[in-house]
Amino acid sequence: MLKALKEPFQYTRGLDESSAGAAASKGNTGKAKRKPRARNMSGTLKQMWGYLIAYKGRLAAVVVMVILSSALSLLGPYMAGTAIDHYLISRDSGFVLFLVGMGVVYVLHSVTMWLQSIWMIGISQKTVLRMRVQLFEHLHRLPIPYFSKRQHGELMSRVTNDIENVSSSLNSSVIQVFSSILLLIGTVTVMLSLSPLLTLLTFLVVPLMLLGMKWITKQTGRLFKAQQRNLGDLNGYIEETLSGQRIVKAFSQEHTVIAAFKERNERIRVSGFWAQTISGFIPKLMNALNNLSFAVIAGVGAIFVLNDQITVGTIIIFAEYSRQFTRPLNDLANQWNTLLSAVAGAERVFDVLGEDEERVDEGAAIELTEVKGSVVFNDVTFAYEGRASTISDVSFELRPGDTVALVGPTGAGKTTLIQLLCRFYDPSVGNILIDGIDTRMIKRENLRSHMAFVLQDSFLFEGTILENIRYGKLDATDAEVEQAAKLANAHSFITRLKLGYHSMLKPDGSGISQGQKQLLAIARAILANPSILVLDEATSSIDTVTEIKIQEALQRLMQGRTSFVIAHRLNTIQQADQIVVLQDGAIIEKGSHAELIAQHGFYSSMVGSQLKDGMLNESS
Ligand code: ADP
Repeated sequence: MLKALKEPFQYTRGLDESSAGAAASKGNTGKAKRKPRARNMSGTLKQMWGYLIAYKGRLAAVVVMVILSSALSLLGPYMAGTAIDHYLISRDSGFVLFLVGMGVVYVLHSVTMWLQSIWMIGISQKTVLRMRVQLFEHLHRLPIPYFSKRQHGELMSRVTNDIENVSSSLNSSVIQVFSSILLLIGTVTVMLSLSPLLTLLTFLVVPLMLLGMKWITKQTGRLFKAQQRNLGDLNGYIEETLSGQRIVKAFSQEHTVIAAFKERNERIRVSGFWAQTISGFIPKLMNALNNLSFAVIAGVGAIFVLNDQITVGTIIIFAEYSRQFTRPLNDLANQWNTLLSAVAGAERVFDVLGEDEERVDEGAAIELTEVKGSVVFNDVTFAYEGRASTISDVSFELRPGDTVALVGPTGAGKTTLIQLLCRFYDPSVGNILIDGIDTRMIKRENLRSHMAFVLQDSFLFEGTILENIRYGKLDATDAEVEQAAKLANAHSFITRLKLGYHSMLKPDGSGISQGQKQLLAIARAILANPSILVLDEATSSIDTVTEIKIQEALQRLMQGRTSFVIAHRLNTIQQADQIVVLQDGAIIEKGSHAELIAQHGFYSSMVGSQLKDGMLNESS
């Protein structure tokens, strides 16, 4: 379990600190790399088939219904034409029976259409339900570096928009495409059998139709993709700016943000306008060509009738079929685009699903039931992807229950050491031992279950205070939660709230003070009862009374646990068993406060020059 850890510290902070403009440009680079269309159509379809095969019985039923409905819709015009010859011209008997038969054909046609549609919707909804769950679960198993490289909004768009695309196109487009192809084949076959010459004449318009459609689909395909990309970009941007509202406001960036939003919105308008307009040409073009072919059939057909080469009924059948023949072509063109964008969407979903999960813990992975808490960093060297070196040759040892204060300027590598400790990343050289065991051998989840985190910006979710504290130990009783809150000095402020432990917290934790948030985080950590504790001390000052409460609660929490403190308070640092001073990823000094002061090195000068209100100002 991840405990109170807000993933990944550095990145979250980095994003908060950047202005909205910087956030926007980051979004763009993420987008630019994305290819607008499915790169591997057949592979994606194969993967899609992997999902659909689970419903092969239903699918077969849908196929039968599509075949039936196509056949029935071919039968309708045929019967109408025959009726004209038999009952209007030849005046045969049995017209009523014929009418009933025709009625049955139309009713059956509706029934088969209706059945294929609800069955397919059922299949599609079950499929996307599975995909959505899989994707969400998978996202939670992906390693931290994956998220560092991507915009959250963009990932969200895959879980929502892309899957929705797949769903809607499975609902209708697949059936449409399939039945259009069947109708096309059926119509041509019947037409050929009735009059090859008239069929040929009808086909004269086909090359024109195909050329026009090819041009239109090419344009619209490109434009619809651009629209989808722009929409994803806008989503990402909205998500970023809304979650960074405070920063936007704090830096008075509202105008910049709104201007950037307008620009993105305008891009959607332009691509949307052209995509809709050009795709709107398809039916008009089809209509014009339809009329053309109708005129040809009527003209030539009339001559044939006058020469007794063909019946009037056949011409009616032809006229009907020529319309039916262009409709599936039209549908194919329309649905093809939807299908293409759904395939592209499915591919984007499969891309995420194909990402390696946090490297599955090696076969020999150990699960520790109890951790005493000795921690050894052994010549640890590490670099983030694409960087030369972040941590080099870091070695230090902690006995169970020891406290180490990590000290050093911003960017020195303190957070990175913690990320290595909890295996968000693994060292490239050297190793970290917990109770003498290489952390690489310990299952990540198990390792993290022995740790708790109290961070500057503690992760609180929407829920009651009770639930938020219980996040530290999900099976804790109400009494245990209250006990932890008491030890964390949080009980008194909680009981002063109108609803006490049942007061709701907002996702961003607003509504309670910064100091109270920390007390809740401490209560959560106390409840988790970990052997190893990670503490990122608050840099902002908190009112003295709360501050004293926090310090007292922390003392209780740290008692008997191995603690890593990213320390800013001289008081905390002085009390640590060991101080590790980092600069540019390397240890430059280590020892107790007294030892380091005696060395008259970096630490002693830092304490001398940067101490203000009992806190080290590390950014200078
Ligand atoms: P500190 O906690 O001491 O301020 P960090 O451990 O956060 O320092 O950062 C150490 C260095 O690693 C910095 O130069 C920082 O820019 C870089 N860094 C931190 N996180 C990442 C990341 N996810 N990807 C690339 N570089 C990073």
